[in-house]
Amino acid sequence: MQLREFKELEHLKLQFISGYCSRGCSTQAKVLMNTGDQAYAYLRNFFHEKPEIWLFVLNLKDWKRLELPQKYEHGPFFKAYHTPYMVYYGSVIPEFWTNALFTLCDKAPERLKGEFLSMLGQRDKDFKSSFFRAFDLDLFSFSTVHEFTHIFCEANHVIFQIVAEPIFFALDTAWFTEFFCQYTFYSFLKKHNDEHAEKWFSIAELCYKGGKSQVKYTDLRDFGKRYQEMVSTAGGTNLLWYQFGKFMLMAKELYEKLSESFITETIREMKYGEENFLKQMQNSFQNFESWFQKWAQ
Ligand SMILES: [Zn+2]
Repeated sequence: MQLREFKELEHLKLQFISGYCSRGCSTQAKVLMNTGDQAYAYLRNFFHEKPEIWLFVLNLKDWKRLELPQKYEHGPFFKAYHTPYMVYYGSVIPEFWTNALFTLCDKAPERLKGEFLSMLGQRDKDFKSSFFRAFDLDLFSFSTVHEFTHIFCEANHVIFQIVAEPIFFALDTAWFTEFFCQYTFYSFLKKHNDEHAEKWFSIAELCYKGGKSQVKYTDLRDFGKRYQEMVSTAGGTNLLWYQFGKFMLMAKELYEKLSESFITETIREMKYGEENFLKQMQNSFQNFESWFQKWAQ
């Protein structure tokens, strides 16, 4: 979508982000944009550089005009290395998401499904209808924390983002990029919305346990190596299992020990800039730093 076409969209200015939505989508857009603004307000406390973010909420007609590669066909996604940063959401949750997540969760042990229903206060209801009712746009809107974390990391040169896809896929630590975004997502929920944290975590347990036997890859290292294959088979169900099953469980476990200090430390230690580069070189080569200082001026 080109800039000149933005004028067809409705513009909303929030405290931290700008929003654009298709005509007739402002109710849904407000849900996503309000959460997005809260996500920004949370993340900006951790990072030095504050990127400009535009959030688009589009109906199906406008979504089709984006002509996306397969990887992004369901959304949400953001444009890397492009300022202002543009994040795209559909005005409804992509059917793929709810259907794929449900398929993974439905195979979970009955005990877990029962716990999910009692958490919702719907013990006597059917799992399928309760699941689809619980997974609404309000709950889904918190995934903006994940998307915005990518952007903040990119703008602040923290952790390798998907700079060039072959690099991302080849790294054994590709999983960490996505895991970190799920960590801030969980951390945000714990701080601002414990009820939703509980819902997302409950879905994570169902997804992890129910999906483990259904997906092909489960190891952390396969996440990067098999990324492309996972996207092109079954529309990315395996990716959803990692993101909303395994990584969410890992995030909760670590969060209980380290809380927000894990975010602060990761940002400091995983920043790729001169200071950290010099520290690493100095660790490997004695006197590297004094040699550098001699030639620096
Ligand atoms: Zn991501």
